[in-house]
Amino acid sequence: MEPNKHHQLVIIGGGPAGFAAALYGARADLKPVIFSGMLLYGQASQTDLIENYPGFPEGIQGVELGRLFEQQASRFGAQIEYDQVLSLDFQDRPFTIQTYSGNISADSVILAMGADPKKLHIPGEAEFTGRGVSYCGTCDGFFTRDKDIHIIGGGDTALEEALFLTRFARSVTVIHRRDALRAGAILEKRARSHPKIHFLWNTIVDEIRGEEKVSALQIHDVKTGEARKIPTGAVFIFIGHSPNVSLLGGQITLDDLGYVKIDAKMETNIPGVFAAGEIADPHYRQVITSAGMGAAAAISATHYLENLERL
Ligand code: NAP
Repeated sequence: MEPNKHHQLVIIGGGPAGFAAALYGARADLKPVIFSGMLLYGQASQTDLIENYPGFPEGIQGVELGRLFEQQASRFGAQIEYDQVLSLDFQDRPFTIQTYSGNISADSVILAMGADPKKLHIPGEAEFTGRGVSYCGTCDGFFTRDKDIHIIGGGDTALEEALFLTRFARSVTVIHRRDALRAGAILEKRARSHPKIHFLWNTIVDEIRGEEKVSALQIHDVKTGEARKIPTGAVFIFIGHSPNVSLLGGQITLDDLGYVKIDAKMETNIPGVFAAGEIADPHYRQVITSAGMGAAAAISATHYLENLERL
């Protein structure tokens, strides 16, 4: 990347929203630059098999779908930078974007930095991350071979990952704080009928314990109050996500849940700054909805830039 170069459209984030925006921006001849950040292809890359993205009746590996998104965007002229944005300045126009490789400027920006897994913030969680505590089954499933492992959470992600981890683990116990799952009916049915999957209901994990690696969980039953220690081979935490808004430095208005607030044109409180995907979506959080939001943001950015030229 050439430092100090000016661009019409800069997209931050290389998940489905970012690459769909890059594709639409490239086809509108805006020659967009997309910063992929640390996690190329976003959270989709950490999903083993994506079965609900239309056009792939047999499902497609998350990484493979990401590669196809990237190929398609670059075919039409999107410039992909495997670099990270360090800060954003929306006070003056054009906007300034500071990256590891230098500063660039842009007339419009699409924020597509996604969301990260939420943490439990209990003793042992940070200490044992990477040593038996994980937030990604696809990344760490292999290390659970023949172990009895635990999953915390009762949503779609928890059950999808529980099903995936049965490929390696001897048993997978889902620990949920209530007695009814949040996950959808299909995943619930699959998980409940899987011989390797068990459930611990109304249960909270208070502490993750071990020495070199995780070896036990300190839990309690919310109904009876009974506390006990149970052995575990690994623990996977899937309790939702938090949007990646720290880069915005308070310049962009957020909604009550802390997600970027956008209007019907995907525009933020700053004209010319748009947002797409999970950074602005606490509800749907699907590859297809993120990609759709990315396309919509790029179309709006195109209109915005056309109006700028006329001024
Ligand atoms: P989610 O739906 O927000 O579920 C989070 C789960 O974690 C809930 O069961 C919640 O319990 C539990 N939880 C939250 N905070 C907790 C805490 N501090 N301690 C213990 N448990 C806690 O998150 P998600 O499963 O990541 O799904 C997010 C979105 O993506 C959803 O809209 C989902 O439908 C979608 N998604 C869809 C698919 C698919 O269609 N195949 C796959 C993955 C995700 P409570 O239920 O008690 O609140």
